[in-house]
Amino acid sequence: MTRRSVAIAGAFALSCVGGALGYVFLGPVLDEDRVVMHLQLGDSGGRLMDGSPSWNTAAESALAIWNAYIRRPQFAVVRDSTAPIQQGNRINNVFFSSHVYGTGFGGAVAITTEWSSRGIRKEGDVIFNTDYAWNSYRGPLRRAASGGTLYDLRRVALHEFGHVLGLDHPDEAGQIVNAIMNSRVSNLDDVALDDIAGAQALYGVRGGGGALAAFTKPRKAKISTSRNRLVFRGTARPRVEAVYLKNNRIPRRFFLALGTGRWRANLRLKPGVNRIILQVDDGVRIRKIGRVVVTRRR
Ligand SMILES: [Zn+2]
Repeated sequence: MTRRSVAIAGAFALSCVGGALGYVFLGPVLDEDRVVMHLQLGDSGGRLMDGSPSWNTAAESALAIWNAYIRRPQFAVVRDSTAPIQQGNRINNVFFSSHVYGTGFGGAVAITTEWSSRGIRKEGDVIFNTDYAWNSYRGPLRRAASGGTLYDLRRVALHEFGHVLGLDHPDEAGQIVNAIMNSRVSNLDDVALDDIAGAQALYGVRGGGGALAAFTKPRKAKISTSRNRLVFRGTARPRVEAVYLKNNRIPRRFFLALGTGRWRANLRLKPGVNRIILQVDDGVRIRKIGRVVVTRRR
């Protein structure tokens, strides 16, 4: 097996502007139904700011977020695991330490190791740096009482578990996207559309079939009607900020929903061929997700 590690830098918020390409991959991918993470973060000394009773529950909630989006594999956990903490033993240890198996963090807040064989990821240990102040909370980054940043374990865990999935840093690949996988910890406290799209490109979509948004009605990609209006229905993933429908024959976009699971629209049709385009907005850019071609007969 070969080993390398990926670090997340400690510095402050990275502001995200403009549109760009998207996710990047480390290379090796997981090839199991269940990827067991051994949660060994130890005592948090009481409830964390988000109500989590322990570091391990905060980390487990980050795994559940990824699980909600990807088809295979799914993360599983051993809570408060006592598995041996070693590298190269095919056990995914999640723990705090002041070092990375004897070497320094190089200033990183956390590091994920990567062991792989013939393109298949075999192990990823996630190590959080005890040199920094930690809690678990949502919203903008906070300052620690001791000075410096108070790091949110859940958002850093989301990033590190993204590395376990095989995602790399889009910002270091020259891409400017809103993503938890960017190399610096920021005010973003959850996975963004780009992260989800990257994970789903590797592992499929949880619940099957769909993408970030989809049509449920009509069911066919090509239909013919004599009516001058038609009802369209569909779904959208909760992380999608807005859904639009657009008829290429009519100039304006039809805004449908903000942060919703389902959408419905009654769209006007022009005589002839109407291309109804489904778009989603992640706050950075608008992506084309699907299309239905409707021919309105005269
Ligand atoms: Zn990273």
